[in-house]
Amino acid sequence: MPEERPAVPPTGWKLAFPMLSADGTRVGFRGVSLGGRIVYGVLDDARCGYGRRHASPAKGCDCGFYCLHTAAEAQALTCATDCGDAVILQVGVLGAYTRYERGMRYARQRVRTVRMAACRCGRPARVFVRDGTGLPGWRGLQANCHVCAAGLRVLTPAEFGRLAGPGVHVTGEAPHPADSTPPLRQELAAEAAALRARLDHFQERLRRLEEGAQ
Ligand SMILES: [Zn+2]
Ligand SMILES: [Zn+2]
Repeated sequence: MPEERPAVPPTGWKLAFPMLSADGTRVGFRGVSLGGRIVYGVLDDARCGYGRRHASPAKGCDCGFYCLHTAAEAQALTCATDCGDAVILQVGVLGAYTRYERGMRYARQRVRTVRMAACRCGRPARVFVRDGTGLPGWRGLQANCHVCAAGLRVLTPAEFGRLAGPGVHVTGEAPHPADSTPPLRQELAAEAAALRARLDHFQERLRRLEEGAQ
């Protein structure tokens, strides 16, 4: 294996579930596969996902931090049913790493960018809400649009970024090259359709009331 000694840490992309500490003062991330029971911070060391007492990664164990080489590959993973609520992280790979064809496995990482995926309804996500899941000391968050988050307690991307600490950027969904319609227009069109349906419903009820009164 060739040894690399890059001047700047390599960058990778991965999925994670965003988390909020029980006291609301810290944010963290839960892994989507092997690390699903572990919450890591913005700057953290890998821990063994099997709870084994060794430095991670280790020979003979598949634990460790993992990332992919491109944002597009991470984005594609959000299509998986159990990853739809994950955010996409851009991470700096620190310390020793092993490079594979599609990604890297490594011991230490710094989260640089948190990218919200689309809301479950398909609209662009704008805020974080609690998703009802959690681990001891941590509540799961989910990125929602303003419509789905209406009436719920929300954490804005700016608040999430502030809790994450300096150097972490929280962004909205990446633009879809295939979508020619701007997201805001799609969002407004969807809301207009919903309002029109409600108006039709009220007009129908009014008509019935008027008929009943005659
Ligand atoms: Zn291990
Ligand atoms: Zn929504």
